[in-house]
Amino acid sequence: MREDPVRELAVLVESLSEWLRYQRRLGRAGLRGEPAAAPTPAAGQATEKIPTLEEIRAEMGQCRRCKLYPGAKNLVFGEGSAGARLMFIGEAPGAEEDLQGRPFVGAAGQVLNNLLNKLGLSREEVYITNVVKSRPPGNRDPEPDEIAACLPYLKKQIAAIQPRVIVTLGKIATQAMLSIKEPLTKIRGQWQRYDHIRVMPTFHPSYLLRFPKERHKTWEDMQQVMEYLAEKED
Ligand code: URA
Repeated sequence: MREDPVRELAVLVESLSEWLRYQRRLGRAGLRGEPAAAPTPAAGQATEKIPTLEEIRAEMGQCRRCKLYPGAKNLVFGEGSAGARLMFIGEAPGAEEDLQGRPFVGAAGQVLNNLLNKLGLSREEVYITNVVKSRPPGNRDPEPDEIAACLPYLKKQIAAIQPRVIVTLGKIATQAMLSIKEPLTKIRGQWQRYDHIRVMPTFHPSYLLRFPKERHKTWEDMQQVMEYLAEKED
């Protein structure tokens, strides 16, 4: 039996209103591109304001939330476009990143830059960051308590940027983002999800420096990413 058309229309209007409210909460413009109006909370209802990258950086301040702070020269927050459709997440800053306060500017960064060049992308149009924002001593892997202290800020960065795709570089970033313990090799090159965002786990550029024969695998993973982004052109 068919539904009452008036009722169907009411349901449709309510879904559309809900979607528009969601877009406004994200700080996105209305349908014609006008600036989003400040949300008017219902009585007693808290507004969920999504902080901007600048606000998140300011909140981190001179971070002392984990045991890495005494050894780190600079906090490496991340860089690129605040509206990036593609986000890369590495593990933690190395010596050069610590010196410059920028992610992936050392030898591993060269590998990432080459990959971006070959894909026709610039660093300015994507967003690049790490799970952990302070350099672990001697470039050791970040420890679970350090990851736990930093992860909420990475998640806020993702909420601010709302990328279409996240590429996790290496085991640490993949396991932290997906809250899993599986080895990278089991899921590399296979689509995963973080919230509603697609995640593509691939090798870390430092691994590709050591094993250049594996580069074609990351290239293939990135082809999947580029195809998906082309399909979802917006
Ligand atoms: N390795 C990472 O994981 N991140 C950097 O920023 C540099 C090297």
